[in-house]
Amino acid sequence: MKCSVCKKPAFVKVRYMKKSYCKEHFAQFIESKVKNTIEKFKLIDEDDKILVAVSGGKDSSALLYILSKLFNNVVAIHLDLGIGEFSRKSKEAVKELSKLCNVELKIYKLKDMVGFSIPEIKLERRCGACGLIKRYLLNKIAYEEGFNKIAVGHNLDDELSFIVNCLISGDIKQLSRIGPKTQTKGKLIGRIKPLYKCYESEMKLYCDAVGINYVKEICPFSKGAKQAVYKKALDLIEEKSPGSKLSFINSFIKKIKPLLPKEEVKLNECKECGFMTTSDVCSFCKLVKRIK
Ligand SMILES: [Zn+2]
Ligand SMILES: [Zn+2]
Repeated sequence: MKCSVCKKPAFVKVRYMKKSYCKEHFAQFIESKVKNTIEKFKLIDEDDKILVAVSGGKDSSALLYILSKLFNNVVAIHLDLGIGEFSRKSKEAVKELSKLCNVELKIYKLKDMVGFSIPEIKLERRCGACGLIKRYLLNKIAYEEGFNKIAVGHNLDDELSFIVNCLISGDIKQLSRIGPKTQTKGKLIGRIKPLYKCYESEMKLYCDAVGINYVKEICPFSKGAKQAVYKKALDLIEEKSPGSKLSFINSFIKKIKPLLPKEEVKLNECKECGFMTTSDVCSFCKLVKRIK
């Protein structure tokens, strides 16, 4: 198997492209895919100040690496969740990566910000709580430090499994909000997903191809069982018919999403913290009260 570009021994075969690439040309292929996604969906403007949320895992690590190659206006942020060895390894990986990318890194400790770490949450839905806390704090930091966009490492498989979940539960509201970006509204900073068209498997290969040291362990509290099943099902479809995942997201964005009812969400400021919410008190403030 030879690289379709330079004829050197290939590192990977990309079946849906019917092409093989060496490490160098695979990296180029992924980088141009991300660049095209950013251009097509107008995710980044020249005067944007972008905060890249980096966990230390493969997706966000690859995202920081690629964005730092393409733009000068990126700063990395890492939330130390206080999950023992897992958080220690994650923090080390992110420090190493930001040096490699020559990007400023901001590290925030959850314990310092809210008074508790993730293992101290004694709720059944700890994973959901963690996701909510991370989203809230990233937004708060971005707003207070003058960033106007938050880039997150959601990949194609994440997005598709979320779509499948919405379809199965009939959650039209959530479904209509799916897409590669959200707009900034008041104190709610817009989020962008530059890896929107990148397969999860490609992000792992990309990290290996360019030499990014990412954390391979998943969070010990992770309970993504349902999502993992959807991802497996999508893998099976992709296996039988390469390119299905890309077709799925393309037809969703182009043909299905425009048919969904567009509901303007009314946002107001939370009575407790002043950040945007749909009710009187935001779900973060409610959650923190329950935890404490
Ligand atoms: Zn090559
Ligand atoms: Zn609040």
